[in-house]
Amino acid sequence: MAEIYTVDEQIARVKTGEKKPRLLLHTCCGPCAAGTLANIAQYFEVTALYFNPNIMPRSEWEKRLDALKVVLKYFGDIPLVVPPQDDGQYLALVKGMEGLPEGGERCARCFDLRLSATAEYFAERRDDFDFFATTLTVSPHKNAALINEIGMRIAAYRAVPYLCSDFKKHDGFLKSTRLSKELGIYRQSYCGCRFD
Ligand code: SF4
Repeated sequence: MAEIYTVDEQIARVKTGEKKPRLLLHTCCGPCAAGTLANIAQYFEVTALYFNPNIMPRSEWEKRLDALKVVLKYFGDIPLVVPPQDDGQYLALVKGMEGLPEGGERCARCFDLRLSATAEYFAERRDDFDFFATTLTVSPHKNAALINEIGMRIAAYRAVPYLCSDFKKHDGFLKSTRLSKELGIYRQSYCGCRFD
């Protein structure tokens, strides 16, 4: 069975003097990045990756990216990667599932798409990162266990280590709302696809 890595374990190692791991962090928006980074930025060498072809319309995708840039600057100019993407990739994947409620199979595919792209980016640059993870688990509307299950499956397929998280812990979501207000960034009122 593949080894399971967790954010908390890695933080504990750094606290005992070990080198900070290099983390490729899939980021879905500024607020979720804010809540996550508030708890982990000091323990990892973070590179953020914004791959969210599920976010519609494009103007919304851009607004969330702009908010993310403000957050990354606040945490010390964390580098950002934005791979090519368009909503056609997402729409093809969830065709026929538009009417499903949030939290079902459509969302599982949506997580898979975003984490697969992150793992693919990692696999092409193996020497640059130690782990990948996602800010998606900071949301109280998202099932962290399901996201971690998908992340570990993709990690096994790509042979790149995934870091299990539940960024809601340690007041992650509360910190997300507080810091977003403090920074004056855009906070969306819907998940992304407009089917929810
Ligand atoms: S509700 Fe959110 S997670 Fe679910 S499919 Fe839509 S954008 Fe993706």
